[in-house]
Amino acid sequence: MVKEIVIVGGGTSGLILAKELGKRGIVATVFESEKRVGIKADKASGILSASGLSKLGIDFSDAVVNSLYGASLHAGRRSLHVRSEKVQAHVLDRIKLAEICSREAIDAGAKVITGRRIGPEDLEQFSSEGKIIVGADSGLSTVGRWAKFPPIENHVLTFKAVFEKSERLIEDEVDLFFSERFARGFFGWAVPYGKGTVELGIGTSSGSWNSAEAFRRMLKETSVREAVGGGKMVDSKASIIPIGMRSSTVKGNVLLVGDAAGQVKATTGGGIIFGGACAIVAAKSISRHLEKGEPLERYDKTWRKLYGNDLSMHKIIHAYYSRAGEAGVERLLGLLNILGIGNFLSKYGDMDRPSVMVKRFFLRDLVS
Ligand SMILES: Cc1cc2nc3c(=O)[nH]c(=O)nc-3n(C[C@H](O)[C@H](O)[C@H](O)COP(=O)(O)OP(=O)(O)OC[C@H]3O[C@@H](n4cnc5c(N)ncnc54)[C@H](O)[C@@H]3O)c2cc1C
Repeated sequence: MVKEIVIVGGGTSGLILAKELGKRGIVATVFESEKRVGIKADKASGILSASGLSKLGIDFSDAVVNSLYGASLHAGRRSLHVRSEKVQAHVLDRIKLAEICSREAIDAGAKVITGRRIGPEDLEQFSSEGKIIVGADSGLSTVGRWAKFPPIENHVLTFKAVFEKSERLIEDEVDLFFSERFARGFFGWAVPYGKGTVELGIGTSSGSWNSAEAFRRMLKETSVREAVGGGKMVDSKASIIPIGMRSSTVKGNVLLVGDAAGQVKATTGGGIIFGGACAIVAAKSISRHLEKGEPLERYDKTWRKLYGNDLSMHKIIHAYYSRAGEAGVERLLGLLNILGIGNFLSKYGDMDRPSVMVKRFFLRDLVS
């Protein structure tokens, strides 16, 4: 009997999975609770490494609004500037990205049903019909709770706003602000979207004050106001980011992927690249399960083998800067400046994979 595949959640992870299944001749049905894809994604940002994006196989060019070459990290009175000659990251319009992923999934044969929230009763029904169920339904996953998966350890609360008519001078670099006075356990960011538009955002650990209050505190900082360039605030949104991988992502016929699985970089909260990469692994595992009877658990083992080390390294770095506080990060930036690490990162940095960066560090004398 051919098993049916139900994907709960039409974010990038669920849609990439549906497309990858379609490419393998497997028709999946994606259920998205919002009326259109991309509505929830618009609460987040869209900074994606150029190298990571190229591996997802998405024709993303129509969604690019800006390209970034570098970043300035600020803590207290210190800053670390990193700039590369090549484009390091693209800033994407998240609604357009979701629409592109949806179109590619439908073209590959998937069904995408919008405006349909899946609840526990639906999941019971799908399960009794022997369907394979994939939860791609964000960090607060209904599927994860219904199937009693181990929880995601931690969450960061976020708040972001768009500023228009900004006179910010640098349009191709981001600013990151580390401070326990406003961004406890995470950081603030200013991202130029081009054409005088800047996004200002903040993340703060869920145990501290709420994210809107943290945002107000951040806006009082002179360096932050400079990064916004005097623009006018036109839109604001709050959301959350899951921090930490779930300790299991397969149970019987149920799988979790993307934010629902905690496949997120704990350093920055970026989850599109790893969520998409793990969705591709999930498609291969489901396909081998249906064709060759391989256990679905292979998905959990494979994605951890491929990406678990990097995701764990992101978690260690996040734990370091969360505990170090502003003075600790300030000292670290000073030290990194003295050691010339800014130059090293400009040349060998990798936004997604710290393990690749460490390899480059040890091989640099051989390759330079
Ligand atoms: C402020 C902020 C900034 C961010 N910046 C970046 C960034 O710059 N780069 C980056 O890579 N990542 C970033 N992220 C993270 C990124 O947004 C997520 O990792 C990514 O969206 C995860 O994709 P997903 O498909 O797994 O889940 P989601 O995008 O959360 O999609 C889940 C979908 O499931 C739907 N859904 C939920 N429950 C149900 C249900 N019961 N039934 C049906 N549908 C349901 C939702 O409506 C949603 O569309 C940011 C996040 C935030 C909050």
